[in-house]
Amino acid sequence: MVKLKPSVEKLQAYFVNDIPYKVKLDANEGSNYLLKDGFKIDGFKPNLYPDSDSKLLREKMAQYYGCVSENIMVGNGSSEIINTVINAYCDKNDKVISFVPSFSMYQTYCDLCGATYIGIETESDFSQDINKLINAAKEQKPKIIILCNPNNPTGYVTSREDIVKLLNSFDNSLIILDEAYADFSEISVIDLINSYENLIVMRTLSKAFGLAGLRVGALIANVETVKYIWKVKVPYNINILSQYASEQALSNLDRVNDYINNVKILRLKLIKELKDLNFEVFETGSNFIFVKPPVDNLFEKLMSCGVLIRKINYKQVVYNRITVGTKEENEILIQEIKSIMGESIWEKV
Ligand code: PMP
Repeated sequence: MVKLKPSVEKLQAYFVNDIPYKVKLDANEGSNYLLKDGFKIDGFKPNLYPDSDSKLLREKMAQYYGCVSENIMVGNGSSEIINTVINAYCDKNDKVISFVPSFSMYQTYCDLCGATYIGIETESDFSQDINKLINAAKEQKPKIIILCNPNNPTGYVTSREDIVKLLNSFDNSLIILDEAYADFSEISVIDLINSYENLIVMRTLSKAFGLAGLRVGALIANVETVKYIWKVKVPYNINILSQYASEQALSNLDRVNDYINNVKILRLKLIKELKDLNFEVFETGSNFIFVKPPVDNLFEKLMSCGVLIRKINYKQVVYNRITVGTKEENEILIQEIKSIMGESIWEKV
């Protein structure tokens, strides 16, 4: 067999468990509320390539993100664009710096192009000391600094003040703000794209819009940077169905805002219920909650009753990341946790 290059050979493939479930709270997907009645396609022409530049889609997005369409390049999920940007900027041994734990794919995309990924540890409560990141970056001189805000998997929100401090500290590193979950927090720095030439913001329709299956993400930056990066955009990267469907979904922004507000209300309720059950709950600005559970093997026990959450091992400690589901899904989750905890009390007796 012809071998992959060494930086890629050592990678673990990203497999997604295919487990039957009744409640799915493991991937931070939103609800299907925008296109639940299907969508209409006028003049559907699948024999033709889609609009390579996704012009209409970018115009619709610009209204929501508060910029112009020339500030936006779209990709097949923000995953595709993050990979493309890291690969476009980094040669072998260039450095990329970020906090850990954070979105695991940053490391993979670095390995793909032979870049060195440097993880700066978060504090014991998973808060992020921006000075630590700034000092490390001054020493390491990375090509790219990535800040995931709110952070996946911990939910931690970096303040705007800290982000501005970071932006003011570096001219020669690209600064990527991965705002996949920013719709659920109060903080975005899209309004700073014209003040910082090296700032790139990544957004996605996979979470707050509940359109993960369409695979649509956005890179948002100043016009010159977008034009520059356009060289590496895969032609026709958003298929015709995803373009149509997301354009229609983006015509209902009031529904998006209602959905986000509802997730925030459900998030508060779920946090309280988990705390009442003695979970250690970390502060979150996202549509998921990062917890240290009070029982062993919670992930496995919930899985066996059809409730999927995410298990995260960090420094030999098991944590869980739980997506905020609908009211009904959260009720099932809490019920199942209660019965698991009831059983584990009996196990101890
Ligand atoms: N960034 C973060 C922080 C994520 O958690 C995810 C999805 N899990 C992505 C980017 C990619 O999202 P998508 O490709 O669906 O836009």
